[in-house]
Amino acid sequence: MAGFDFDLFVIGGGSGGVRAARFAGQRGARVALAESARMGGTCVNVGCIPKKLYSYAAEYAEGFVDAKGYGWRLDAPPTLDWEALKANRAKAITHLNGIYEKLMVGAQVRRMQGHARLLDGHTVEVRHDDGQITRHSAATILLATGGEPWVPELPGRECVVTSNDIFDLPRFPRRLVVVGGGYIACEFASIFHGMGSEVTLLYRGTQILRGFDNEVRDFAAEEMRKAGVDIRVQADVTRVEAVGDGRRVHLKDGSVVEADVVLYATGRRANVRGLGLEAAGVRQTEHGAIAVDEHYATSAPGIYALGDVVGRLELTPVALAEAMALVDHLFGPAPGKPKRTMDYENVPTAVFTHPPIGTVGLSEQAARERYGAVRIYRSDFRPLQHSLSGRSERTMVKLVVDDASDRVVGAHIVGADAGEIIQGFAVALKCGATKAQFDATIGIHPTSAEEFVTLREVSRT
Ligand code: FAD
Ligand code: NDP
Repeated sequence: MAGFDFDLFVIGGGSGGVRAARFAGQRGARVALAESARMGGTCVNVGCIPKKLYSYAAEYAEGFVDAKGYGWRLDAPPTLDWEALKANRAKAITHLNGIYEKLMVGAQVRRMQGHARLLDGHTVEVRHDDGQITRHSAATILLATGGEPWVPELPGRECVVTSNDIFDLPRFPRRLVVVGGGYIACEFASIFHGMGSEVTLLYRGTQILRGFDNEVRDFAAEEMRKAGVDIRVQADVTRVEAVGDGRRVHLKDGSVVEADVVLYATGRRANVRGLGLEAAGVRQTEHGAIAVDEHYATSAPGIYALGDVVGRLELTPVALAEAMALVDHLFGPAPGKPKRTMDYENVPTAVFTHPPIGTVGLSEQAARERYGAVRIYRSDFRPLQHSLSGRSERTMVKLVVDDASDRVVGAHIVGADAGEIIQGFAVALKCGATKAQFDATIGIHPTSAEEFVTLREVSRT
């Protein structure tokens, strides 16, 4: 690809962009990567990682209470030092930023710190943080600019926060209102409740976590409520008002909820601001995502896009897998390795609520639509740990089986370590395991995961 400054120019140093740049660099391509903020993108800086760290912080609170049943005496109630948590998190994230920078050096990727935009199909302009403006030509350009929080237009919009702000709130909120009922709303409702806030979650629909298995949604909502999160459904916010340092949230039914902080978690949109899509002829979908084909090619020849900015499945491991498939498509597979492709079936996911949810494959309702006759296996029980802790939390495990083939097409758990447990079962589903093979597997006793291999049928249609 002589005549161009680079073989590949990556815009965005998040999960997808870094993985694509690194793998292309290792393959011998001449690669550049521009990042306008901090390396690692959403996941590292304001997503998965800090979220999971705060989730651990919240779990300690439950642990202190539960420990009493195990004979521990905690003479004074432990208190959360919010400043210490923020500082320790920031330090851990800065360490990760450094690791990502080193990955670029190791793969001989030319790193540029600044905002990049397309001038045409083969030219990128970078406005560097130091004020310098440079132009670069590239045979191929990858748009991996991710997404950003979206807040609907409403009076008082300026006095709410988003997930970008929540990690560094200047003061710990004694009362938090969360608006939304998806991953981010549910996770932060649980996390802040665990850390000591009074949390009210306002969701516009009839049940949180749309898209998940209906029983999982009901069970998770029930457990979150039991834990103390005030979940209100069919709750439509009309406006938010600043009253001194506090916030007043007005609902359509006339009720009002007082809060110190209002978190809007009402979805995310593709981050394409100032990216120059029009100049390069890159088309967007009606939702604003960048439209791509099965090889992540946009409507402009030589320009590709992946990760959250294409809005297929907004998960870090998906962005990583898409990046590896694209690098194989553009530069060929690694020596001796087969060409990787992306498969969106059976992508496992976890929602880090308390208790967490782990899921892979189809919900019961989606399986019925696809297969017609399905068998349902479910159990809910009090985990052994809580026989001494006294906590009333329950765990639910559920399998959805295609009746005709006996294949397990959905596995779901709401309970401690859900993400850790479901990752292994995702391999089984990927291999097309049948219910008979689940039954032939010996359990590990005593665990919650063993329930998956001893489940009895509860219904069939
Ligand atoms: P990003 O990681 O968003 O990276 C895009 C990068 O591009 C950013 O660094 C941005 O600064 C940069 N950029 C944008 N425009 C430009 C420009 N013009 N020039 C230069 N740079 C630019 N996923 C999970 O799998 N598990 C989780 O537990 C999880 N938790 C999450 C929690 C929260 C609160 C959020 C918001 C997301 C979470 N996600 C989670 C989703 C996950 O973070 C994303 O799917 C993932 O980060 C997408 O990677 P990406 O490379 O597409 O984009
Ligand atoms: P989601 O799409 O999951 O949820 C958005 C929520 O906001 C839904 O409950 C939606 O309601 C509601 N909503 C949308 N518009 C409005 C409105 N105008 N007024 C009131 N409520 C509204 O988005 P998130 O921002 O929570 O997360 C984005 C993505 O990030 C996730 O889909 C996931 O892929 C990823 N993520 C993954 C995590 C993980 O892996 N653990 C954690 C966090 C994020 P309705 O259902 O009625 O449409």
